[in-house]
Amino acid sequence: MEHIINGFLSEVSKRNAHEPEFMQAVSEVAQTVLPYIVANDIYHGKNILMRMVEPERVVMFRVPWVDDTGEIQVNRGYRIEMNSAIGPYKGGLRFHESVNLSILKFLAFEQVFKNALTTLPMGGGKGGANFNPKGKSDAEVMRFCQSFMTELFRHIGPNRDIPAGDIGVGGREIGYMFGQYKRLKNEFTGVLTGKGISWGGSLIRPEATGYGAVYFAQNMLHTKGESFEGKNVVISGSGNVAQYAAEKAIQLGAKVLTLSDSSGFIYDPDGINQDKLEYIMELKNIKRERIHKYIEKYTTASFHKGKKPWGVACAIAMPCATQNELGESYAKVLIANGCYCISEGANMPSTPEAISQFHANRVLYAPGKASNAGGVAVSGLEMAQNSLRYNWTREEVDQRLQDIMEDIHDACVLYGTENKTINYEKGANIAGFVKVADAMLAQGVV
Ligand code: NDP
Repeated sequence: MEHIINGFLSEVSKRNAHEPEFMQAVSEVAQTVLPYIVANDIYHGKNILMRMVEPERVVMFRVPWVDDTGEIQVNRGYRIEMNSAIGPYKGGLRFHESVNLSILKFLAFEQVFKNALTTLPMGGGKGGANFNPKGKSDAEVMRFCQSFMTELFRHIGPNRDIPAGDIGVGGREIGYMFGQYKRLKNEFTGVLTGKGISWGGSLIRPEATGYGAVYFAQNMLHTKGESFEGKNVVISGSGNVAQYAAEKAIQLGAKVLTLSDSSGFIYDPDGINQDKLEYIMELKNIKRERIHKYIEKYTTASFHKGKKPWGVACAIAMPCATQNELGESYAKVLIANGCYCISEGANMPSTPEAISQFHANRVLYAPGKASNAGGVAVSGLEMAQNSLRYNWTREEVDQRLQDIMEDIHDACVLYGTENKTINYEKGANIAGFVKVADAMLAQGVV
């Protein structure tokens, strides 16, 4: 088997030289999916995985804009339309200085599997720009978003490609982009998700990724007769996903000890309760401040500059910041300190070496493509509500989210159970693959 996997990866790597994150995501899938293909005649000999790693379309474009001092700035915009076998392309937009083709292709590839797992009819895509919104004025962010959409609008549409938010793209950015799309097309359609409630958004969409990652962890814990009640939880990030993962964990009786941003992490030994979390939300979402401000108000907490939170002892860890933020040495420390459940809110936050540690130590490990699928799932529900021209209640959407996370968990159990343990990584990869591959085979060589 190994020579088949290596041969495949060497072929993909020839075509995608200098794309380490994309190769990492492809390799992770190939390790579990290629043996499944070889063992199942209907997929064997159809070059199906090679077709899946090749994006259907990649658009790259110039984004010029004028900053507050009158200087002309130029960024690079992207949209990767990866796979539309089971529905229109769907996936977020990321605005971060690190954005490049490799990062967006890895995210788009993961998105294909994730969207298939949600049970909703959505293909996979991803996009963004190497634009850093930190420190920019609202007017600068608006001008950038308008320029970005002035090109992107011709490639997207409610039945073609429906972007959403991701790192650096929240409600403010979605609003500016939606406004520009509406103006250019002269139509009010559900072309973006993550919209405001009064103009087509869905209740629970902001909460969905974080809540979903906690619901997924809850399902994993239930297989061991455990729950969040009374457990210490360590979370990285302090953006959209981290905030709502913390909120749901607190609601379920856990003690959330940490949150972080790219400058370091805060550790609150008394636990971050709902009031403290609301202060963080105000700091991060309204004042757009850094996380260390927390310790000025809550003086028993400490700030650890330039550090990641994985050295803090916990039962449950939730990486919710960015890719490759949890490497092998951190994985060893987490396990040594008693952590036995990892639910990824971010995309690909654990390195392959860290994941090997989790498997070797029988940690309940959920890969992001399964555990953070709640965000895109509720985006799918937002699209459904837009088509119906109707809004479901908070309780209805939350219940559907919980049901979808349970279904994803069940799919992972179905395809990932081996020797009485559940390999969620294998289960998620194969369950996602089967749905997309079946559709591709039915639609012929297109
Ligand atoms: P936000 O922009 O709201 O927050 C990102 C958080 O991660 C911030 O605290 C940010 O700190 C931190 N962060 C970003 N880059 C780095 C870095 N290189 N090193 C350390 N910290 C970093 O983004 P989201 O919460 O929306 O996204 C977080 C993760 O979740 C991403 O991996 C994203 O792809 C994934 N995800 C998001 C979904 C969503 O619905 N939003 C859906 C599914 C997955 P700082 O402010 O200092 O940059």
